[in-house]
Amino acid sequence: MEHQAHAKLGAGPTAVFECLQRIPCNPCADACPRGAITVKEINDCPTLDVDRCNGCGICMTHCPGLSIFVVDLQYSPEAALVKIPYEFSPLPVQDEQVDALNRQGDYVGDARVIRVQKSSNKTHIIWLAVPKELAMEVRNLRLRKEPFHD
Ligand code: SF4
Ligand code: SF4
Repeated sequence: MEHQAHAKLGAGPTAVFECLQRIPCNPCADACPRGAITVKEINDCPTLDVDRCNGCGICMTHCPGLSIFVVDLQYSPEAALVKIPYEFSPLPVQDEQVDALNRQGDYVGDARVIRVQKSSNKTHIIWLAVPKELAMEVRNLRLRKEPFHD
């Protein structure tokens, strides 16, 4: 299955769009404060100006399809950063070890939660450190335990 409609990465954290359903939608473009997203036709997948994108993730919290991720391949010598849109409860907590899942929901490796970025709407952003080779595979997470989450 083709899954990366737009996966050209910039030097740092960069938005990745995996929005392939041809439905009329463009709140991501309206939400980007840097004007980095263009939706030429309302049914098309957005295109990104990678030079304008700083990976802030604001667009992620406005995407009803949970179709936007942010990837930073240069996060550290060993790990890439993948920001995941997340609407489940409980939320993970910082430094928690979680299962890294691919697009099909299959376990592909281990991930560490770097940050839990709560949003004012229901779509929160979970920052995961993952092995670099999994940066374009990890698109979801699974908690291993649920002890003390809020
Ligand atoms: S991550 Fe930030 S800068 Fe990049 S496209 Fe999304 S809203 Fe715009
Ligand atoms: S908001 Fe999400 S689903 Fe809608 S066009 Fe943007 S990336 Fe696609």
